Amino acid sequence: MASASAALQRRGWRLPPSTYAAVSSLKDALDRLASGGTPAGFSTDAARPSINWVFLGPPGVGKGTYASRVAKAFRVPHIATGDLIRAEIKSGSSLGAQMKSIVNQGKLLPCDMVQQVLQERLARGRQQGERGFILDGYPRTGAQAEQLLTSTDIGLVLNLSLREEVLVQKCMGRRLCRHCGKNYNVADIHLAASADGRPEIVMPPLSPPPECAPHLETRADDQEEVIRHRLEVYKQESKPVEGAFRKAGLVVDFELTAGIPETLPKLMLLLESYVGRHAYDRA
Ligand SMILES: [Zn+2]
Repeated sequence: MASASAALQRRGWRLPPSTYAAVSSLKDALDRLASGGTPAGFSTDAARPSINWVFLGPPGVGKGTYASRVAKAFRVPHIATGDLIRAEIKSGSSLGAQMKSIVNQGKLLPCDMVQQVLQERLARGRQQGERGFILDGYPRTGAQAEQLLTSTDIGLVLNLSLREEVLVQKCMGRRLCRHCGKNYNVADIHLAASADGRPEIVMPPLSPPPECAPHLETRADDQEEVIRHRLEVYKQESKPVEGAFRKAGLVVDFELTAGIPETLPKLMLLLESYVGRHAYDRA
């Protein structure tokens, strides 16, 4: 968009900035239409709010939990690509069989395969009248982010964050009941506000009931060293993804400072103001 308004300025036009913004967003809209029709996921019924959102965040931030709660509240599906891939493999389709053999070799699935599964899922949802989605676990690369931006009318990218020392403590506090499979977190986090102005963080533990307490176990990869490595990998891999979405003006940053009960109402309030916003509204 900046490029369109820069082009106008080069031609010597002198218009108020709001006009540049309007003209450039119109130009972008026309460019998009010219390059492949109405973007998928773009509702033709203008009165209908669209919720085509992506949730980003480091491992341990609780992205899946927030995505699922928010999706339920806004009555859109929570689409986790990991689940989609597992379902495709389970379905026994030829694509699923291909994926299975790749995964069994310990290799990463090629981008276009993941994209295919995702686009089919989104198309199916549109046919069934879904009003959008919350994507979790996708995109993983800058190229996937770019592809998603051109194929789908993404309205918001929520970037969840949490101070790193808290992420580590939270991951180390994870416990799984080997009896019933439920997850708990025994980390009791209380961090004072930092001198450089970062807020206080209070996250009480999610303690197990007495029937699970004797059966708790820690996942082998929830050791401090492994957690720090996972966070480092995430930082590197998320940079191009975040970058692509920031360039498109879609990222909303949200730093967690408390547990789910305190955070969810605040997050919902913030997100409500983005309902129905789509790519063409971005200034
Ligand atoms: Zn249990």
